[in-house]
Amino acid sequence: MKKIILLSTLFTSLSHADLNSDRLKEIVSINSGSSNIKGVNSVQEKIKPWFEELGFKVTFKENPENTSTQKVSAPMLIATLAGEKTENITFIMHADTVFEPSSPFQKWTMLDENIMSGPGVIDDKGGIVVVLQALKTYLTALKAENKKPKYSIQVEVTPNEEVGAIGWWKTFEEMSSKSSFALGLEPSLKEGIVEGRKGNVWYEISVTGKEAHAGVDHVSGINACNILSEKITQLKKLTDYKKNLTVSIGHIEGGQDKFNIVCGWAKAKLDTRVPSLAARNILNKKIEAILKDPQVTFKIVDETAPMASNAISKPMVKKYLDLIEKNEGKRPQAYFSGGVGDANHFAREGIVVIDGLGPVGAGMHTPEEHIDLRTISTRAKILSEFLLEL
Ligand SMILES: [Zn+2]
Repeated sequence: MKKIILLSTLFTSLSHADLNSDRLKEIVSINSGSSNIKGVNSVQEKIKPWFEELGFKVTFKENPENTSTQKVSAPMLIATLAGEKTENITFIMHADTVFEPSSPFQKWTMLDENIMSGPGVIDDKGGIVVVLQALKTYLTALKAENKKPKYSIQVEVTPNEEVGAIGWWKTFEEMSSKSSFALGLEPSLKEGIVEGRKGNVWYEISVTGKEAHAGVDHVSGINACNILSEKITQLKKLTDYKKNLTVSIGHIEGGQDKFNIVCGWAKAKLDTRVPSLAARNILNKKIEAILKDPQVTFKIVDETAPMASNAISKPMVKKYLDLIEKNEGKRPQAYFSGGVGDANHFAREGIVVIDGLGPVGAGMHTPEEHIDLRTISTRAKILSEFLLEL
């Protein structure tokens, strides 16, 4: 008798694993580089019935920035299921990858019986498969007790996360305002989860100098390259790893491509990453002070608020780590990630935002991207248990 039960349990877990890895292989085989609008849409069309079979209503929302002549991205897939409360638990994931059709990395390969490599296997197609399995387990458990989900459920699958989710920021804010929880299915970070994401501010810096003959009339020149390099030397000192704060020059250019002309202009691109809005404001004041110079102008060209953990999210993060430890036998950490993601746009007071709830793997954004397939079922089980405890 005991033997039969054991075998049947083994069989169910195996068939889960097969279904999930088959589905993952199917969607990884479709190229969905962010600019491959047709490909991204094919992934969404493929997963649409997988949500419908769980009872979700699935719609596609056009990118608000599309015009009649130019499409910014594929639509967003939104799947909804009503619960007892009108407030949502929102699941955040994306269908696009960084691997455009021109990339040589297009196919999935089994590296051994548990490890599969492929474009988007963890970022973020593995996350989609984890959510589907978690929701199935969660809803089946509720059905057995004749219960409805406590919160309404909303799933959003972004079509262009890898290029900054252009067009969707307002949609994210609206979704956030109607949600009590926003759970991100980005890949697990070092087997742990993500309790915060830094925000970023990007500055474009311009220096105007005055050209002059470097030999004959050096004295009347104003060297823009010199001024810029002095500013950079001061800016780089603002990095403070202990405070989770980084300042990085990504690009410089200037002058004519000549030896004998004093550099007349220079430009730089500056990336800053901040853990909180307060830190952002302090850093911005320091940068303004450094760049205050009659020859220098700058503008902020991109800015995303940080996703920081708050008083209500802290116990939820702990609960999640407890569940990982219970199911996988070791306790990972909750991290503060330097990377900005869609979850940043959901952050506000009064909401719990946790990210990195997807499967375990490594190598994202490189041809070494791979997933540990076993973690699809463990992370899905953990997520479903978390949902049952809410
Ligand atoms: Zn991602």
